[in-house]
Amino acid sequence: MNDQQRAGDPAVVIVGAGFAGLGMAIQLKRAGVEGFVVLEKADEVGGTWRDNRYPGCACDVQSHLYSYSFEPNPAWSRMFAEQQEIWDYLKHCAEKYRITPHIRFGTELVGAEYDDATGTWRVRTNRGAITTRALVLATGPLHQPAYPGIPGIDRFRGKAFHSAEWDHGYDLAGKRVAVIGTGASAIQFVPRIAPRVDRLHLFQRTPPWILPKPDRSISPLEQRLFRAVPALQRLYRSAIYWTLEARILGFTVHPRLMKLAEAVARQHLRRQVPDPELRRKLTPDYTIGCKRILISNDYYPALTRPNVELVTDGIAEIREHAVVTRDGVERPVDAIIYGTGFHVIDAFDHLDIVGRDGLKLREAWSGGVEAYLGVTVAGFPNLFFLLGPNSGLGHSSMVFMIEAQVRYVLQALRPLLRGDARAVDVRADVQATFNQRLQARLREAVWGIGGCRSWYLDENGVNRALWPGSTAEYWLRTRRLKPAEYRIEA
Ligand SMILES: Cc1cc2nc3c(=O)[nH]c(=O)nc-3n(C[C@H](O)[C@H](O)[C@H](O)COP(=O)(O)OP(=O)(O)OC[C@H]3O[C@@H](n4cnc5c(N)ncnc54)[C@H](O)[C@@H]3O)c2cc1C
Repeated sequence: MNDQQRAGDPAVVIVGAGFAGLGMAIQLKRAGVEGFVVLEKADEVGGTWRDNRYPGCACDVQSHLYSYSFEPNPAWSRMFAEQQEIWDYLKHCAEKYRITPHIRFGTELVGAEYDDATGTWRVRTNRGAITTRALVLATGPLHQPAYPGIPGIDRFRGKAFHSAEWDHGYDLAGKRVAVIGTGASAIQFVPRIAPRVDRLHLFQRTPPWILPKPDRSISPLEQRLFRAVPALQRLYRSAIYWTLEARILGFTVHPRLMKLAEAVARQHLRRQVPDPELRRKLTPDYTIGCKRILISNDYYPALTRPNVELVTDGIAEIREHAVVTRDGVERPVDAIIYGTGFHVIDAFDHLDIVGRDGLKLREAWSGGVEAYLGVTVAGFPNLFFLLGPNSGLGHSSMVFMIEAQVRYVLQALRPLLRGDARAVDVRADVQATFNQRLQARLREAVWGIGGCRSWYLDENGVNRALWPGSTAEYWLRTRRLKPAEYRIEA
C-alpha cells in the first residue's frame, strides 16, 4: 500500500459486479492483491444477467466464448445459454474466487473527486465516502433502461415496464399488449409472450436484419467430454472465436462482403414469412451490420400469428389506455412493454466525476465521449473504465474485450500498488491521436457508410460505442501498457 493512504482504505475501488467488475476483482485476487472493494448498488452480483429476466433472455454470442477464458464451463446446456444459466455462472465465479466478501452490496457510486496532492480518489456513495488510490468503473455499457420520448408516456394508466425491469408478477395472459421497439431484447421476448396474450401490437421504427440462430442443446455426452478433456473445450472455444472474428472483415475491410450476410438474412425472412406485405415491412433499407445484427429462429414466425400485428406507422402519442399512431388509429391496450434499449453514449452523465484541476468528466467529454483504448481518459489519473467508449463490439464477445482491458488495467495498477507511482495519467496527445485514427477507421467501415441511425452513434452521428477492428488487434494493443504513453508521477 502507498504511504499517502490511510490504513484500512482500499487500494482499489471497483464499481459494478457484472462480468467486468467481477473479472477485475478476480484478476486482482489472482495477482495477490487483497486491498480492494467492489461497490454494487444492487443486492446481488450479475449486472446484465441479474437485471434482464424477460422471457427468452439469452446471450447471442455462443456461451463457450461468452464466458471467462480462465473459467470454462463444461456444463453449458445450450449453444446460447439463457439468462438464469449465465447469472448462475457469474454467481459461481464470485464464490469460487472468493470475491463476495469484497463486495459492498446496496452501495451506489454517486461521484468521485481526484486529489492531486495525494494522488487519491475520494469516492462518494449513498453510504458515505471512501478514499482510494485507484478507481475502476465497471458500471456497464447497457445498464440504464432508456424510454422513448413519446408524448403522453406518463399518462398511461395500464401496466408499463421496460424489458430490463420485467414484472413477472403481472400476468400477461389474455391481455392486449403493446410492445415498443424491435431490438435485441424484443426479438427474444416477443415469441415467448405472443402465444399467451390476447393481442400483441408490435411497434417498429426500423426493422432489424436477422440471421438464423445456430442454437441447439449441448448433449450430456458433449458435456462429459468437455469435462474430461478440457483441451477439447478450449479448441471448441477457439473455433467459435475465429468463426466470429472472421466476420470483422465484412464490417471493416470489405463492407461489400456484407452482401453475403444480407442474402442469408433475406432468405431467412422469405422462408419464415410467406405474406409479401409483412415481409416488405420487415425488410430493412440499410446495409446489414450498420445496426446490430440480430439472430433468431422464432421471431418472424411469431409475427405471422393471427393475434400479432406489426405496426410501422410512427407513434404519435400514448393516452390513458391506448397507443395512437400518426395515422390517427387508436389501439386500446392493457400493458405497454418497452423494448427500447439503454442509455449508452450518455451512460456516465449522471455521475459526478471530477479529475485533475477540477476538470469534470462531463466537460472533458462535451465534444464527445472518448478514451484511450476505451480505458483511460487524460486528466483523470488512476481512473479506469471497463467497456468504456469505443470498446464495444458488433461481432464477438464483450467478455473477450473485458479480459483484455482487465489485463491492461492490472499493468497500470502495478506501480500504484507497489508505491512506485502516485499517479498514472494517459497523455492528452496520445488520446487525441488515437481517437482521430479510430474515428477515421469507423467512417470507412460499415457503421459509417451504412446510412442508418443506431445506438452506436451520438447526437452528431459519431460512433462512440464500437471498436473499429478485430478483437485480436485489440488484444495485441492492450497486451502491454506502454509507459511512454502515460504521465507516470512518482
Ligand atoms: C439483454 C442483453 C443481452 C446481451 N447479450 C450479450 C451477448 O450475447 N454477448 C455479448 O458480448 N454481450 C452481450 N450483452 C452486453 C453485456 O452488457 C455485456 O456483455 C456484459 O454483460 C457487460 O458487463 P459489465 O460488467 O460491463 O456491465 P453490467 O453487466 O451492466 O454490470 C454493471 C454493474 O454495475 C452496477 N452499477 C452500475 N452503476 C453503478 C453505480 N453507480 N454504483 C454501483 N454499482 C453500479 C450495476 O448494478 C451492475 O451490476 C448483452 C446485454 C444485454 C442487455
